[in-house]
Amino acid sequence: MSDGPTREAEQAALEAGRLLFAGPCDFLISAADENDLPPLGGTEVAFAGRSNVGKSSLLNALTGRKTLARTSNTPGRTRLLNFFSLGGRLILVDLPGYGYARAPKTDIARWNALTRGYLRGRPQLRRVCLLIDARHGLKASDRAVMAGLDTAAVSYQIVLTKADKLKPGALQRMIEETEAEIAQRPAAHPRCLATSSESSAGIPELRAALATLAEAPHAG
Ligand code: GDP
Repeated sequence: MSDGPTREAEQAALEAGRLLFAGPCDFLISAADENDLPPLGGTEVAFAGRSNVGKSSLLNALTGRKTLARTSNTPGRTRLLNFFSLGGRLILVDLPGYGYARAPKTDIARWNALTRGYLRGRPQLRRVCLLIDARHGLKASDRAVMAGLDTAAVSYQIVLTKADKLKPGALQRMIEETEAEIAQRPAAHPRCLATSSESSAGIPELRAALATLAEAPHAG
């Protein structure tokens, strides 16, 4: 069977993802300004998206832990960068949501500067998962973030959220449209992943994609 090895590789990747996220996930720190950022350590993957895109729900679904997103959604912490460690193998960084018009202007300026500074100057940041609501597709604010990541040469992947809200045909069209738009962007991963925190669709695949970036498990 010609697809045997491929399927085996896919199964192995899914298993690696499952194992990574089944292990410990510990809150490390909330950073309010650059001086709070944890020192250079393990490989980081950041999660960004417009407010209400479903970022907290996705982090919950990925890790199977309600405490993680609760930590990030604690009032006063939503504009901070929240760091979580997956057993020392991968650090998940929950970035503040953007496009939230009601936040006071000074707050916006502060977290924008912090987030932008983090995104531009973090050597151990391997990828940004850019969350996009599958019903709405890319918006101007998402394109502005993508342009910044392209300029800073920070690798990013589009992750569609709330895929359960669309019929299969419409979801497929959104995936194709999104992939067509990002094809010319230098730092974008060519494939976009569709996920649902509600049905768990795409969650094992996203875990598998993130596991390829993680450090090897410690022996013993
Ligand atoms: P955040 O502001 O990006 O952290 O978004 P939340 O995770 O708080 O989600 C915003 C709203 O979208 C909430 O009402 C969630 O219940 C809803 N939501 C999040 N993920 C999904 C999903 O996969 N499917 C559906 N149907 N609703 C979702």
